[in-house]
Amino acid sequence: MARRKNVVLIVLDTLRKDYGDRYIWPLLKKYGFKKYDNAVSTAPWTTPSHASMLTGLYPSQHGAHLTKKDTLLTVKLNASRLPFFLPRELKELGYTTYLFSANPLLSKETGYLFDVEDVKVDFLDRINLKIGQLIKTEDAKRFRETMIKHGARSEPYWKKVFFLLREGEVKILLKLGLVEVLKTYVNTLRLISSPLTGWPLDKGVTYLLRRIKHTTYREPSFLLINLIEAHEPYRWVLFADAYRNRFVNGRLNSNVVRKAYEKSVIYLAKHVKTLAELLISELNNPIIIITSDHGQLLGENGAFGHNSYLHDELIRVPLYIYGIQAKTDSWLSLRRIYDISKAAAQGKDVIDVSEKTVFSELFLCHEKKPKGVVSVPCHRIAAYQGPWKVVYDVKEGSVVHKISYDGSMVNERKLVEEIKNFLKKSKLIRIRRVFTRGS
Ligand SMILES: [Zn+2]
Repeated sequence: MARRKNVVLIVLDTLRKDYGDRYIWPLLKKYGFKKYDNAVSTAPWTTPSHASMLTGLYPSQHGAHLTKKDTLLTVKLNASRLPFFLPRELKELGYTTYLFSANPLLSKETGYLFDVEDVKVDFLDRINLKIGQLIKTEDAKRFRETMIKHGARSEPYWKKVFFLLREGEVKILLKLGLVEVLKTYVNTLRLISSPLTGWPLDKGVTYLLRRIKHTTYREPSFLLINLIEAHEPYRWVLFADAYRNRFVNGRLNSNVVRKAYEKSVIYLAKHVKTLAELLISELNNPIIIITSDHGQLLGENGAFGHNSYLHDELIRVPLYIYGIQAKTDSWLSLRRIYDISKAAAQGKDVIDVSEKTVFSELFLCHEKKPKGVVSVPCHRIAAYQGPWKVVYDVKEGSVVHKISYDGSMVNERKLVEEIKNFLKKSKLIRIRRVFTRGS
């Protein structure tokens, strides 16, 4: 039997394809990586995208996505009720699994179970997360509802306070006030200490590289590494929530954000080079997959950030692979990383990952209202096939966006049919999942 290869999946969180190709690819190609230009993420944010890479399933099939109940911080991957979960399956093949994560959304608490876990979330960021938890989901929902009722999502603070008082929501007002004070305190501390910690340029990469270097691996091993330097906040574009609101509402200066993002990617690039060099020299027979879970909007269509759109800047991601060849002449869904990793574990050098159509899913939409941007639950699916892309709104039953990459006429009907078949298949998988759990 072929000797089992060590498999490493490096996710450069929030890295856009264009910035990855410009700043990271030139540093990697000399080591023998191959670049794939048609990789498509299954979702525009961390949790569902990682869950797809590790299960081979789309978000509506693995279930780790936003719902009316779950917010960004509470969505979990329930791997125990899924038939596929790469770390578990590789463990059964004799692998030891390692998680090195700078993203708080990836840890055993959110369902990513590995034998060895090293999660480095910036100390003050942990405090910020805890502060955020002071506002219970129920309170946040009531606050949102009050603001929507008065059309006050982007009004100044004093007006929000006024509306809460008018609705008699004194408890929520006090809690929000406390959270604001604590957050301002923590973020001031962060800024003051940033010359020492390097934050926000360094969001944990230096620490994690040191840990990766000094770990003794039990081979064969599977490593999932998430580096989050390309994620906001960026140096010079700061200030927590005020920043976040402007980020979503698109009132930032896109040139400033682009420059700051570029600086973060350049900083990340040199560490990725060091990491690739280290893994190639330290591990026997490594397979290294470097990608991103989603990109980042830097002012395109008046929007910043990620989570709520299916634009190409968000879901067409960089992909560089070392040690195994993934064959495809069309689109490559990131969910196939599951198959590529399993093929590598079986000692294969080549795997065919051709698919006629690939999909990406969204469960939270931003809608522009006269008073600002409002987040609303939705279900939108992007389908890529040949030279075409279509984005379909499931509830509305209509195409909201389409692209032809070669100027030919988009066959909308055909793509919508593919999406409907995809929905049927997802429903069957969901039913089987519930049935398996109950039995
Ligand atoms: Zn992410």
